[in-house]
Amino acid sequence: MITEISPNAHGLIKTEPHPVSDPSSPHRQGADRTGEEEAREPMLHNITQRRRLAVLLAVLSIAALVLVGRWLNATKVGGQQPVEPFRIAGNFYYIGANDVAAFLITGPEGHVVLDGGYPSTAPMIMASIAKLGFNIKDVKVLLNSEPHPDHGGGLTVLQQASGAQLWASDASADSLASGGDDPDIVLPLRALIWIGVLGYPAARVDHRFKDGDTIRVGPIALTAHVTAGHTRGCTSWSFLVRDGDRPLNVVSVCDTGVLAMSRYPEQGADRERSVRVLRSLPADIWVTNHARMWGRYRKFVASTTAKNPVDSFIDPDGYRAFIDAAEAELRQGRVH
Ligand SMILES: [Zn+2]
Repeated sequence: MITEISPNAHGLIKTEPHPVSDPSSPHRQGADRTGEEEAREPMLHNITQRRRLAVLLAVLSIAALVLVGRWLNATKVGGQQPVEPFRIAGNFYYIGANDVAAFLITGPEGHVVLDGGYPSTAPMIMASIAKLGFNIKDVKVLLNSEPHPDHGGGLTVLQQASGAQLWASDASADSLASGGDDPDIVLPLRALIWIGVLGYPAARVDHRFKDGDTIRVGPIALTAHVTAGHTRGCTSWSFLVRDGDRPLNVVSVCDTGVLAMSRYPEQGADRERSVRVLRSLPADIWVTNHARMWGRYRKFVASTTAKNPVDSFIDPDGYRAFIDAAEAELRQGRVH
């Protein structure tokens, strides 16, 4: 399928001078070439060109396969096994898969869903919303951490089922609206997005927000923090939930790791800033868009036997340790 992409179209492959038109070419030197040889030459040349193209395409395909393998590993495509949805605290629920996270925040004037998983995760997310006793049609706002296929891919399905309005940061909006394309993604993977292997159905982005904006649905209020690095538009969210009369600060962190296949020049500076921003946010409860990072399973299991299940999710020390680890990765130059 990758043969449909012409590498020259992207200006990456320099075309070598045609050997026949090269005056220094040995082919030019013999004056005794037969007419047959002359006639055969363009054909031989075509074969050489074709062989070169075949080698080039093979190299590109292998590179693409290696990168897809690393991508899938980094994004843990295996992390979409269905798991039971559960209440984290107050009106804040987990509705994602075993690793690819999604969250529901409910309210009297409509609900908010944060992240859509892969396109194939979306039906599980909808089943989880129903299992918790809520109606997908009451979801009024869709939000996103970042637009890679494991978090942005299912938003279109959720949008079609709910009619909800999708809000995104500028950089994420461009990517979501193009079905996952992103100029920062390396070429072989971008090519796979263009031909539909890695992309997803384009989402309708209804609103773009700026860093620091608050999105409201009735009493629900989520503040957007563009914590760029993993992607340019990576968005962390802070909001308040109530456990009885106890107000709790929640931070949903966008992935802080850097993928080898998604790099851009300002990435280092963005990550420095993101670490500072995340440190400045008060967090009683913290989550990320990959559930393994915040201990979803461990905390959920602990909550089933706790006197107050919410206490199992209160983890400000874990939040600080997570940011410390993100900063250490940044200092070490670690790339996934
Ligand atoms: Zn990602």
